[in-house]
Order: sequence, then structure tokens, then C-alpha cells
Amino acid sequence: MGTSGEPSKLHIFLFPYMAHGHMIPTLDMAKLFATKGAKSTILTTPLNANILEKPIKSFNQDNPGLEDITIHILDFPCTELGLPQGCENTDFFFSNPDLNTGDLNRKFLFSMEYFKEQLEQLLETVRPDCLVANMFLPWATKVAEKLHKPYEKVASSSEPFVIPELPGDIVITEEQVIEKEEESLMGKFMKELRDSERSSFGVLVNSFHELEPAYSDFYKSSVAKRAWSIGPLSLGNREFKEKAERGKKASIDEHECLKWLDSKKRESVIYLSFGTMLSFNNEQLIEIAAGLEMSGHDFIWVVNKSVSQGEKEEWLPEGFEEKTKGRGLIIRGWAPQVLILEHQAVGGFLTHCGWNSLLEGVASGLPMVTWPIGAEQFYNEKLVTQVLKTGVSVGVKKMMKPVGDFISKEKVEKAVREVMAGEEMRKRAKQLADMAKDAVREGGSSDIEVNRLMEELKLVRLQREEEKRS
Ligand code: UDP
Repeated sequence: MGTSGEPSKLHIFLFPYMAHGHMIPTLDMAKLFATKGAKSTILTTPLNANILEKPIKSFNQDNPGLEDITIHILDFPCTELGLPQGCENTDFFFSNPDLNTGDLNRKFLFSMEYFKEQLEQLLETVRPDCLVANMFLPWATKVAEKLHKPYEKVASSSEPFVIPELPGDIVITEEQVIEKEEESLMGKFMKELRDSERSSFGVLVNSFHELEPAYSDFYKSSVAKRAWSIGPLSLGNREFKEKAERGKKASIDEHECLKWLDSKKRESVIYLSFGTMLSFNNEQLIEIAAGLEMSGHDFIWVVNKSVSQGEKEEWLPEGFEEKTKGRGLIIRGWAPQVLILEHQAVGGFLTHCGWNSLLEGVASGLPMVTWPIGAEQFYNEKLVTQVLKTGVSVGVKKMMKPVGDFISKEKVEKAVREVMAGEEMRKRAKQLADMAKDAVREGGSSDIEVNRLMEELKLVRLQREEEKRS
């Protein structure tokens, strides 16, 4: 914002290739931007600056109401780069036909990379809103990308920042971002992963358009070449058996579990699960148990622990199960999650925000307590708490690496109470569940997307067959 409270003017850098055929339209573009209220700076070498100065000066004089176009001069030591003195523009070859060899032309083109460092420093100090880099400077995109690290602008790794470009002003902290070190093994792997999303034929997304329209559109327009939202896939399981046997055999008899739920009031039970990968230390488990007890709500709690006969369970407070008898069910091992979530007695879901669980919670119309642990779970949490507004965070601030934040029993109690009592959240969650079911029905958005995918694949096959024939 400017001091007047007006948004400050956009500042655009334009970096033309040093040839008249590129510099002329670049200046025209700068003039066009000026008419739209933006400030433009053209980056170029001393000799080219001489060429541009005159027309820029007269444009600025003739248009006193518009933002000035300026030039920023870059260093280009021709002889050091193995080029003839004064070879700062392809015009040099026009004027010196004897030197107009393919070799020297290519050398000139490739020597553009010399600007890399200067550009990096300049972007770092001036921070324009946009860099328009000429097509012959492909490395410039990488230079600009490198600067796009908003977490470097904050004072500490726990200070929130708004994720740039992403719709909705989503707030996150560095401690919640998967991998920042681009040079680390994991950083390189994550980059590869992102590159493959961009370069593959397309990406299949286990989501549905209505859940996250802005992000679904953003992904399709700015990330993947093509994407099809075809979920929630879990809704494809319609039979009891299919639902009961997802993944592993449950550690509890499904009928017993449902019978227990049948004895409970509508929307009175909170279901807790932390997915397939995680186990908390005993201290945290004891605290969760205490928080659950304090909340006063009935619960089903899946704990990733198996017990041998007679073994003392150090992770439960003394006498916990006796005290909560009838009120709580602990499943040690694997739960028939989808069956439980769909039961009318379940009224809330405390989840680690694994995408599958989150979507299963959405499809079941449940408000959620979010307890992200790692991977992309913090991003999923933001969807629930900041975008959908169908849940509250238990208050985890950073990823578990290897130990996460310790969450007190009071925090567990508070979040559980809030979600179980959150009528507005519940209303929204139910609307989303209806949308999820509509999406996978014939003619729904996900159904249309699967059909579209099939059609596109058939088209590719036809094209291949035609290519073979010709
Ligand atoms: N799941 C289950 N029973 C369990 C734990 C998990 O059926 O006791 C299922 C759950 O329904 C989900 C998947 O396992 O479909 C876990 O995937 P998610 O993305 O939620 O978490 P992850 O374990 O991959 O972090």
C-alpha cells in the first residue's frame, strides 16, 4: 500500500533480447503497461540504453500523467565474453557483415547467461511485481523462481505468511512446509515430483470440483497440463463388505463395532484416528486419553498399537478403560474407518489430515478436529479450517520431525467440545457431503470428469493408430 492507502503501482521488469526485433516491441509493451498505470523498467546494456533513451524520454515527457518508463543498465563485458568490442546487439552483425558468422551469433546468444547473477541481485533488491523475460533468456524463469520463497521474508520459522499466488490468502508457517532445502535429497525428490506433475499427460485427483473450486481451477490452469477431479473415490464402495475390508482386516469385529455405535445417540461420538503411519509416544497418548475423558463425549479411538496378552499398556492412564467403560471404544490396530464414519452416531472426526481420511470425513458430513503430523497434512488442515470452515485445529504448530508439538489434554478437550457443538460447522459439513455424493452420481462433476478422461484416452489411442497407418 502507498502512504495514501492506495495500492502502490505495479512495477514490471522487462528484459528484452538485445536485438531490434525484440527491443522495439519491448518498449511498446512498456508503453502499454504505462497506460495501465504500471511502472516499467527495461533491463539492458549501456549501448542499448543509448538506443532506448531518446524514445523513452519523449514518451515520458509527452505523458506526464503516466508512470515513467526507466532503464536499468546491466554490465556486459564483450571482450571478456569472447565477443568483439561493442557487440551488444545483433545489429552489430548487420553492421559488420564479415563477423556475421554462425559461431559468433551463437556465442552472442549463449553469452546472455552472463546476466544471471546481475538479474538475481536486482530482483532481490528491487522485488518487482513481475519479470517479463524474453524467450531467449530461458534461465531467467529459474532465477525469478528462486526468489519466490516467501518464508525467507519472515523473521522466524513460526511466523505466518500468506502463500503467494494461491487463491484465498492461505496462511502458513515455514515449520509446516514439507521441504524447503532444494539441495537436500528430499528437496530434490520433491522437485522431481512437482516436475512430473507438470510434464505428465495429466493428473488424476481424488477430490471433487465443488469441494475446492478455486484450487481445482488454479491447479488446472497453473500447475498440471490436464487434471481430472474424479473423487471421492471411497464413495465407489457401496456394499458393506467392500467398506469393511478396505486396506486390512479390521482388528475389531465390524458388526460388534456397529452394534456399539447403534447404542449411541445420533452425532454423539467422536472418532479419532491418526492414519496408517504414525504412533505417538506414551506421554502424548496418555494426554489424548485424558483430554477425551475431560471432553465428556463418547469416542472411538484407533491406536496404532497391538497388545500381547497380559502386557501392561503404559500408554493409557491408570484405570482409563474402566472409567470410560461404555463411553469409549479403543481399537488397537486397524479400524473399519469408512463404516464408522458413515454411522449416524458419529458426530465428529479427529484426524491427522491424511488426504484419504479427510475426504472420507467430508463424504460423511463430519466436522473435524485437525491434528496434522507431517507430509502435506498441514496444507489439508488449512482447507478444513480456513477454506471450508468445517473444523478446528487442535493447535499443532509444526511438523513431527521426529517429535512434534506436545498437545495438552486441555487442548484436546477444547477442540473436541468445540467441534461436537459446532452447529454451523456441522451444517456446512453436511452440505459438502451432499455435494460429494452428487459429484460421483451419473452426471455429477466427478462422473463427467471420468468420462472426459476416458474420451481423451480414446482420442490418444485413435491418434496413435492413425499415425501408425500413415
Ligand atoms: N484406514 C482404515 N483403518 C485404520 C486406519 C486407516 O481404514 O485403522 C484407512 C483410512 O480410511 C484411509 C487410509 O487408511 O483410507 C489412510 O489414508 P490417509 O491418507 O488418511 O492417511 P495416511 O495413513 O496415508 O497418512
